[in-house]
Amino acid sequence: MRRIYNFSAGPAILPVPVLEEASRGVLEIDGSGMSILEVSHRSKQYDAVHAEAQANVLQVLGLSPDEYAVVFAGGGASLQFAMLPMNFLAQGQTADYVDTGEWAVKAIKEAKRFGTVNVPGTSKDTNYNAIPKSLAFSDGARYAHITTNNTIEGTQWHGLPDTGSAPLTADMSSDIFAVRRDFGRFALLYAGAQKNAGPAGVTIIVVRRDFLATATKDVPSMLSYQVQAEKESLYNTPPVFPIYVVNLVLKWIQANGGIAAMDARNRDKAAILYNALDAAPGVYQPTVPDKADRSLMNVTWRLADESLQAEFLAGAKARHMDGLPGHRNVGGFRASLYNAFPIEGVQALADYLKEFAQKNG
Ligand SMILES: *Cc1c(COP(=O)(O)O)cnc(C)c1O
Repeated sequence: MRRIYNFSAGPAILPVPVLEEASRGVLEIDGSGMSILEVSHRSKQYDAVHAEAQANVLQVLGLSPDEYAVVFAGGGASLQFAMLPMNFLAQGQTADYVDTGEWAVKAIKEAKRFGTVNVPGTSKDTNYNAIPKSLAFSDGARYAHITTNNTIEGTQWHGLPDTGSAPLTADMSSDIFAVRRDFGRFALLYAGAQKNAGPAGVTIIVVRRDFLATATKDVPSMLSYQVQAEKESLYNTPPVFPIYVVNLVLKWIQANGGIAAMDARNRDKAAILYNALDAAPGVYQPTVPDKADRSLMNVTWRLADESLQAEFLAGAKARHMDGLPGHRNVGGFRASLYNAFPIEGVQALADYLKEFAQKNG
């Protein structure tokens, strides 16, 4: 099989050694005579995987299990849009949600069902092409929420806002394990696995234990962070296979230098692409003008002459590249460069951008 350069935003590229190991696990797990797809979630084989995955999430983030709990849930990041306020926001209380794009809008919509939402800042006026700079967090908010990487719009928080006394929470779906951050600043973070951490089917939630203790008890068991944490995400049958693969990805990250090495490599990759785009301003229009806000994970741009879009894509396809059309709501192009994406693929796209610009500039 020839692997293509898969620039898809999610589900997305996974490391080849992980796919190889996972394919062995599909045949047999740990000398058990059974596939990972067949073992009981209460078996000792799966127990080891589950505990290791929880421990590795914290190890890679540099957090202590004494301070933080890890929960694995179904329902994607989209369920977390509802679950977070369901557990932590009540009528008469306010949560602060910074509005940085489509995923933030969806998170805000769900939170409003449970309490009052204050928006400390928005970049809606400029089609979300920046991270808002002046932020007015409210006094005494129950929590504050950001989207660390805006997968659709191509912006990313490169620092963290000062939210005062409000515990900081985040949707980290598209940059968890990819950039260095002070993860100890977060009271809760969540990420659907399928962007950068594994296959679709599991969401990783990391919650500080003192914040967790303040959650409301009046929540259905399956939707309660407290119940899920207390039961070690084994209240019911967890998504066994996705968790197994997430653990393989975490071990791959550890073996390749941890988040620090991922961060450095991701910076190099993004720089190659942004430089290629910025070198031909008559042909390419990066959708995020302020370099300080550009995402390392999702590089977004338009063609100055949009009539050339089909030609651009056909050329990319001929060069074994896939997944480049922008999100259906914004159009243009998007190259997603998650941890597993190889630097050769980035270089190949940069070379193609240069060639295409010379021809059409
Ligand atoms: C993809 C994505 C989501 C939605 O994830 P699902 O797992 O499909 O619910 C939410 N937030 C961000 C930042 C995303 O990139």
